[in-house]
Amino acid sequence: MDCLFCKIVKGDIPANVLFEDDDVIAFEDIMPKAPTHFLVIPKRHISTLNDLTDEDAPVVGKLQTTAAKIAKQKGISDAGYRVVMNCNEMGGQTVYHIHMHVLGGRAMTWPPG
Ligand code: 5GP
Ligand code: ZN
Repeated sequence: MDCLFCKIVKGDIPANVLFEDDDVIAFEDIMPKAPTHFLVIPKRHISTLNDLTDEDAPVVGKLQTTAAKIAKQKGISDAGYRVVMNCNEMGGQTVYHIHMHVLGGRAMTWPPG
């Protein structure tokens, strides 16, 4: 399967990795949309949020707890940050391996574009 994020998981494409364990990996976004912008992904390939099953609930929860831990380490927790997961074309998804965006270091606007 030709998946960019699976290649990052395997180490075939370099990334600035912030955290990694058996289930998840977090790395800096290559085109940051905020002073802090990193991605947290499951190591196992899941194409979109639509493909999740109940068995995926633990790893999806781990995306969020990992995001929160890294946000704290990066010092953006108290000021606040935004978490985004885009699904399919209308949601703005461009890489079809689910990922949680964590954006911080500037004030976010609402509603998002
Ligand atoms: P999406 O648009 O699917 O929600 O988000 C995909 C994200 O992956 C984008 O923010 C984009 O900048 C990031 N991205 C795309 N290619 C690469 C890459 O090769 N390395 C890293 N670290 N991030 C990437
Ligand atoms: Zn993948």
